[in-house]
Amino acid sequence: MKKSIFIKAFLIVVFISFTVSASAQQELFQLPKEFVYAKELIPTLRSDMRYYSSNNFIGKPIDGYIKPKCILTKEAAAALKNVQDELGRLGFGLLIYDAYRPQKAVDQFVKWAEDETDTIMKNRFYPNLNKSELFDKEYIAKKSGHTRGSTVDLTIVSLTTGHILDMGSEYDLFDEKSATDYPNITRNQRAIRLLLKRRMEKHGFKSHSKEWWHYTLAKEPYPDKYFDFEIE
Ligand SMILES: [Zn+2]
Repeated sequence: MKKSIFIKAFLIVVFISFTVSASAQQELFQLPKEFVYAKELIPTLRSDMRYYSSNNFIGKPIDGYIKPKCILTKEAAAALKNVQDELGRLGFGLLIYDAYRPQKAVDQFVKWAEDETDTIMKNRFYPNLNKSELFDKEYIAKKSGHTRGSTVDLTIVSLTTGHILDMGSEYDLFDEKSATDYPNITRNQRAIRLLLKRRMEKHGFKSHSKEWWHYTLAKEPYPDKYFDFEIE
């Protein structure tokens, strides 16, 4: 009898300590107060977080991307919501490839670019450049606007089917074809690049001349701050 009471008490202690440690783990990650999960503010937003996966110019998941979440400063997310609302009236929506990016991810990009032996993804992402040129052409840099939390890489999709519109070059193609004003694309591709550019600029973002997908909030709230918390 005494023995069974002892076993019961033991099991209760084990159960309680298990429950406490599980809830402590759940509470472990807290998004910094300056940031939000963009989809909580914009439920119709789509995403394909490329650096969480191997489908990117390095060919493997990137440091600091623990979960495929789209995180932005509150200000950038609010501005993006206006773009999504306006595109929605035309039957379109946004698809995010990258948003807040931890400094450790940028450090990995730099290390990768300095390693000339690793050219696994060259044919798809930088067919006309040597890796050493990626710094000079500003496709890779030691600091990125993404790390300040108000920069976003994105494209346009059909709101109903999710079909990605043709911009004339693939996301993260490090090539002159990706310049927003690149002339040798079809009229339709140009119109879609401009559709994105006009809506983003109207709602406070500035474009990047070399990458049609890259936009930064003009009045970003942390212009000198480079964050490094992991994405989870
Ligand atoms: Zn970008």
